Amino acid sequence: MSSASPGRSGRTGDKPKSSSRPPPDSPPWITILEESNLVTPDVLQTALREAGQDPRQVGGWLVEHGCVSQRDLVLAQAQGYAMPFIEPGDYRVNLENRALIPEELARGQSVFPIFAGERIITLAVSWPLNLTVLDQIRLHTGFEVDQCLASPRELQHLIEWAYGGFESEKKAKTVEAFAWEDILKDVADAPAVKLVNVLLDKAAAGKASDLHIDAEEQALRVRFRIDGVLREVPAPPRALLPAIVSRIKVLAHMDIAETRRPQDGHFKLAADREELDIRVSTLPSANGEAVVLRLLRSGGHLLSLEELGMDTADRDAFDRLIHLPHGMLLATGPTGSGKSTTLYSALTRIDRVRQSIITLEDPVEIRLPQIRQVSVNPKAGLTFHGGLRSILRQDPDVVMVGEIRDRETAETALQAALTGHLLLSTLHTNSAAAVPARLLDMGTQDYLVSSALVGVLAQRLCRRLCQHCARPADDPEAILSLLPKNTADALSASWAGRAAGSALMQPMGCKRCGNTGYQGRIGIFELLIVTDEMRRAIMAGEDERTLVGLARQNKMRLLIEDGLVKVRQGLTTVQELLRAAGHVDIGANWAAVLSQSDAADPDSAGGEYGQSSPASSGRRRHAPEASGFDIAAYEALLGRWLQAANQAGAETPPASVCAGPASEN
Ligand SMILES: [Zn+2]
Repeated sequence: MSSASPGRSGRTGDKPKSSSRPPPDSPPWITILEESNLVTPDVLQTALREAGQDPRQVGGWLVEHGCVSQRDLVLAQAQGYAMPFIEPGDYRVNLENRALIPEELARGQSVFPIFAGERIITLAVSWPLNLTVLDQIRLHTGFEVDQCLASPRELQHLIEWAYGGFESEKKAKTVEAFAWEDILKDVADAPAVKLVNVLLDKAAAGKASDLHIDAEEQALRVRFRIDGVLREVPAPPRALLPAIVSRIKVLAHMDIAETRRPQDGHFKLAADREELDIRVSTLPSANGEAVVLRLLRSGGHLLSLEELGMDTADRDAFDRLIHLPHGMLLATGPTGSGKSTTLYSALTRIDRVRQSIITLEDPVEIRLPQIRQVSVNPKAGLTFHGGLRSILRQDPDVVMVGEIRDRETAETALQAALTGHLLLSTLHTNSAAAVPARLLDMGTQDYLVSSALVGVLAQRLCRRLCQHCARPADDPEAILSLLPKNTADALSASWAGRAAGSALMQPMGCKRCGNTGYQGRIGIFELLIVTDEMRRAIMAGEDERTLVGLARQNKMRLLIEDGLVKVRQGLTTVQELLRAAGHVDIGANWAAVLSQSDAADPDSAGGEYGQSSPASSGRRRHAPEASGFDIAAYEALLGRWLQAANQAGAETPPASVCAGPASEN
């Protein structure tokens, strides 16, 4: 996908090109701004005339006159100069790095050493440095120097913050997290402010990873994603939507007046024990703006592969793969299957001092020490492909690309994997063996795939049974009947000696798990290691089934088999396994069973943007009017919801609680 082309055809009524084009020797980012329709040719013409020859001045003029946002400008410049783009706010920058370069140089050139390795420092710069300055820094520090482009404003804040000085106190505010108290005392009377506080507070307390607010014709719909499952929570009145959305936009530094265009933003929140980085995106819909808040726990503890439940044999094999000097290793599975977490865990197992590791992510989700992490922004034209090409010039040993979505990225990544880089990435396929075919479908060459691919890890996440309250199932036969007969028989037989199913556990609910019966998550894995035989099969265009056959000879355990092992160990349930691995196609026998289990479990059937069940839309008809809405009562209600008995977890939301707002009034 070419980043220069979108929108070109949408431009109408242009003046003749010859009169409005930038001069041929103008920097490429000016052309990028024009071609991506961020700036009209007329405006550009004016800017070039007014600001003179210095391209830096042209950019400044465009931002000052509100023709383009600072961020869009820097993204275009990063793309034009083929430099990585970085948002300092995305990182826990080590301020001690300030000792590496003199303050005058940092201030004078507007640069800051954002990462420091053994031999290389990465400077965040607001403009590509010329060779003289680069040499000066090399000489002074004794380090090799990398550059990445950051917005001048963010960089200025960082420099002020790091070196201190007159304005640092004031400026640092924008970098630091909001504290709860600040939000709370901020116009404490406005209901929307209180309400958003309540929602954020409860989402954080409930360990939700996402908070969705959607408008329907008659009602609002609020959902928390907890342990990977979207759960509907009681919603405030529909009439409060615009106020809620505005409040969230203010927090996320977004344009309140803009309601017809999707927007992205983020803010930080210091909840009592953890710091949350909250990514906000708004999307206009027929019924008003939908908002999704993603709660990223930046200080959070990253689960190790052991904690994720990878068994020893798989982990040893996986460890060997991540220590190969080159090759491509992919994690695969649907959204929310924990692929990125696995790759992050893998990166933490690599020697970060001796190896140069760079990641390209959309956006950076978890910050890791000693690893250079770069955010890409495909919407703004900074693609995985473009970013990958730039970072390969910086001689990394290990590269992690957030996701392979297109042919260009796939090919560049495969070639990198063949030329001395270990390349980690993710791909959307249901099984490990489907990966070669998926890469070939994208249009890559079979010889690249067969020679570069070293392994594929397919995975899913299941909720982990709460170890404090789980107990043997009341009706093991009913649970076994969810499985195809041969599988159920095999499972029963594996308890040789004990009564069939006696070790099947069921969730109960206690204080420690918020009465859900589940606590945390566990991964189920399918690790395919590419053998020479498989390489030949890929070259010969053999299908997935053949590859599975070869992998089975090599003792590969299928996802569902690994899942059953974990059910047997009492770590999760058959229902969770079916929910998580539900779309793995292992034959007709399974398909029938799985469709039944989908029907019985409406919460899992629709996935992220699932349809609401008829029952729940009926319930929402009773939503109260905004007037007389009692936020304290709502807060109590949400609190009760969080604690409420939801023994079966993902089963029906508690209707009596959801209908609450009406009766509260
Ligand atoms: Zn429990």
